[in-house]
Amino acid sequence: MSGRAINAVKGMNDILPGDVERWRALEATLRDVWRAHGYREVRTPIVEPTPLFVRGIGEGTDIVDKEMYSFVFHDEPMTLRPEGTAGAARAYIEHGIHAKEPVTRWCYEGPMFRGERPARGRYRQFHQHGCEVFGDAGPLVDAEMIDMLVGMLRRLHVDDVQVLVNTLGGPGTRDRYRQRLVAHFEPNKDRLSDDSKRRLTTNPLRILDSKHDRDQEAIASAPSVLDVIDDDDRKHFDGLRAHLDRLGVPYKVDPRLVRGLDYYTRTVFELRGSGGELGAQNALFGGGRYDGLIEELGGPPTPAIGFALGVERILLATTAEKPFVEPPVFVAPIGERAAGEALVIARELRGLGIVTVVEGRGGSLKSMLRRANALESKIAIVLGDAELDRGAVQLKDLAAHQQRDVPRTDLSREIAAALASKVNA
Ligand code: AMP
Repeated sequence: MSGRAINAVKGMNDILPGDVERWRALEATLRDVWRAHGYREVRTPIVEPTPLFVRGIGEGTDIVDKEMYSFVFHDEPMTLRPEGTAGAARAYIEHGIHAKEPVTRWCYEGPMFRGERPARGRYRQFHQHGCEVFGDAGPLVDAEMIDMLVGMLRRLHVDDVQVLVNTLGGPGTRDRYRQRLVAHFEPNKDRLSDDSKRRLTTNPLRILDSKHDRDQEAIASAPSVLDVIDDDDRKHFDGLRAHLDRLGVPYKVDPRLVRGLDYYTRTVFELRGSGGELGAQNALFGGGRYDGLIEELGGPPTPAIGFALGVERILLATTAEKPFVEPPVFVAPIGERAAGEALVIARELRGLGIVTVVEGRGGSLKSMLRRANALESKIAIVLGDAELDRGAVQLKDLAAHQQRDVPRTDLSREIAAALASKVNA
């Protein structure tokens, strides 16, 4: 007797051997990046009380209104987690972590569930990695998080990485901005999509997020939050930008970038990229500051910032042939004295998490650079007696065929900045 075949639930995928190896390689890289930045993993249940998500994500959002896998078990409403921040915030409060450590860096990973219409790259069970920092108001940690993510995408060979940043200000700025937006959209409200008409009363900020064609004209002419921002919020945003500049992270300010919920504050960001099966430039994931969330969930006022990325989407964006091999910085010493210094330089860079290879076999500069190209290195450091004597090295951009003298003391900083800028190359 044979039964009819039973297939997996729509939108929920098997990951078969072959693919699993790619997943594991990606996850290993992600874990390595989070660890190097001081994040420690937290594991929370896949099922949480439904009110946690209603309060933590918010009524009026697509997730809470339409997409949650909710059920009642022994009279208790429960939901398969649609994202990770609410559970992490609940655990932070429930275990009194705020009283134990002033700043908490947590990362998490695992399956999430949303009843969305399945499509390529959009599933009902999908997988996220996310990080949260609790207890630090920024803007230093905001810039550090963005820099970490740019470096992570570089390691994963995602192309054309672009960073968009914006600020939503604190509660005062947001209220003023909300009023400005209502004043802007209200007179032409008949021309807006139905969703946006509704949001005009529930959450006008989210109109800026609309993908409806009908809304685009009004959105393009909408006022910017920067027109109404107060001094403290502006100082925070300027601080974020100054840190990003100092780190050499290329970014664009996008005044239309928003996160809809009330407890989102100040910094918001989005990372875009192209490559692999993702094709042309596309949003990869975003994050932001939510200084009001912990309080909203019953904890003490605690500033916080975080992001979550979808593993499936990142896998689409990485180039398949060479999944996660980071091309090394290539150090080419000319002569005995330089060889010793090359080893010291390499150790210094590796200490910063930069993959580095020293050419130990000597030979002509030309032959050494041929080896650098074979390894697909983007940057080479060349040093000989002349450079040693003047306390400098040659930094070669192998793609652009340019080189410049860099003081030895500035080398690690210059290399880190050069690699960050390569992200946009
Ligand atoms: P969100 O929590 O909505 O900000 O989403 C964070 C990231 O998770 C997104 O950028 C996506 O990469 C991924 N993601 C969200 N929803 C889905 C889904 N239904 N299927 C696959 N990936 C998703």
